Amino acid sequence: MDCIFCKIANGEIPSNKVYEDDTVLAFYDLEPQAPSHILVIPKVHITSAADVTAENSGVIAHIFEVIAQIAKEQGFNDGFRVTNNCGDCAGQTVKHIHFHLMAGRDFTWPPG
Ligand code: AMP
Ligand code: ZN
Repeated sequence: MDCIFCKIANGEIPSNKVYEDDTVLAFYDLEPQAPSHILVIPKVHITSAADVTAENSGVIAHIFEVIAQIAKEQGFNDGFRVTNNCGDCAGQTVKHIHFHLMAGRDFTWPPG
């Protein structure tokens, strides 16, 4: 499968890693939209939030543990935003589920 985040997960494409374990990888976004902008992905290919099931949701739960850990380690004490874009109309450009962890500025609501 020609998936850029699978290739990042298996090391074929380099990334600036923040965190890695057996099932989850976090790395800096190439086009940061905040002073800190990290992407957190499962190593297994899940296309989008619409494809989360009882069989694969364990790794998604683990991603949120990892996000809390990274936020502590990076000192995101004033708060942070976690964003998932699902599908074309939400602006999902990479079809491998990922969570944007952004911090270091104020965020508006609702998002555009
Ligand atoms: P989305 O638009 O929600 O699908 O987010 C995809 C994100 O992946 C964008 O913020 C891109 O800047 C980022 N991105 C694409 N390719 C890479 C890469 N090779 N390394 C790091 N970030 C990437
Ligand atoms: Zn993939």
